[in-house]
Amino acid sequence: MNTTPEPPAARHIALVAHDNKKPELLEWASFNAGSLKKHYLYATGTTGNMLEHELGMQVHRFLSGPVGGDQQIGARIAEGGIDMLIFFWDPLESQPHDPDVRALLRLCTVWNIPMASNVATADFLISSPLFHEEYERVVPPFGPRDYTEFSGTP
Ligand code: PGA
Repeated sequence: MNTTPEPPAARHIALVAHDNKKPELLEWASFNAGSLKKHYLYATGTTGNMLEHELGMQVHRFLSGPVGGDQQIGARIAEGGIDMLIFFWDPLESQPHDPDVRALLRLCTVWNIPMASNVATADFLISSPLFHEEYERVVPPFGPRDYTEFSGTP
């Protein structure tokens, strides 16, 4: 009899940090690198560069946050392609792309995506037994993700 447990499905985890919070995210990601490397990682441009070059992580890198990266992550969430967001945003400095940040955080709530905005919450998320098991997140009943992409010619 095979008693080896099946590994839980890899999650799609987005990581973002505002500039003043990048050192905290780097330290947190470094401490949790063993767990994070089992999952698909996504990040905004500068955060992703940092994770790639300083920690050697493999990251799907979007545009930098202020020029659309937060919106790209939000779009992925709406499409069902992101399962968790770790976003260390800066509560003490105004950001030119604050509307994009708010939109991203809003979509996390809309789609019932677990999100952490500080180290303590991120610690709780990554150390939760649910993080290491299969977890069927309740997806709000907005109907099927019903949209089409243009594929023909004009
Ligand atoms: P960045 O973007 O990783 O490109 O710095 C983060 C943000 O400000 O949203």
